[in-house]
Amino acid sequence: MLVYNTEVSLIMKPILQVDLSSIKDTPGLSLTVSNRLDLPNVSWEGERLLEFINPWRIELTVTNVNRGFQVSGKLNGSYRLNCDRCLEKVQSELTTDLEGLFLPEQTVNEIGGEDEEEATTITGDELDLSVTILEAITLQLPLKILCSPNCRGLCSVCGTNLNDNSCNCQPESLDPRLATLLQWKQDEGGGNSGQS
Ligand SMILES: [Zn+2]
Ligand SMILES: [Zn+2]
Repeated sequence: MLVYNTEVSLIMKPILQVDLSSIKDTPGLSLTVSNRLDLPNVSWEGERLLEFINPWRIELTVTNVNRGFQVSGKLNGSYRLNCDRCLEKVQSELTTDLEGLFLPEQTVNEIGGEDEEEATTITGDELDLSVTILEAITLQLPLKILCSPNCRGLCSVCGTNLNDNSCNCQPESLDPRLATLLQWKQDEGGGNSGQS
């Protein structure tokens, strides 16, 4: 369920607001928006910074569907995220659909059906698509970001980027989690023999 997050929209400058006054009184009427957007950098999955390379492009149609407004469109642009292995910035392009049903607050309260669960609530004549846009993009981001399929990553000992340089560290043959377990077993063994 999409929740219209007023906190987010208060903190950041709105990305895109659509004035509904020309279609709000006539069901069936629609308006189109074709625009360039400046997207703010946002944090993604905790520590990562999602950097947008502006401007992004958006094309959308907003239709008055009687009980509310249906938004349907496309977004396209480029962004940068850190490679999962070597942490270098990786630039990628993304095109995503933008779909959403927006209902006036009183409609949501009166009807409250299944469709309404998926809908975003609006107040007034302005449709603020900031959260919808950022959600549409972040949902399309790949789970794994790699600068190249054979990125060698960072040395787990000294942190050298192994794509650019080599180092003299011993290659880690053990999974770090297994190494911790072995260390723990050793410690425990020593402790027991000391106590008994
Ligand atoms: Zn990499
Ligand atoms: Zn190293």
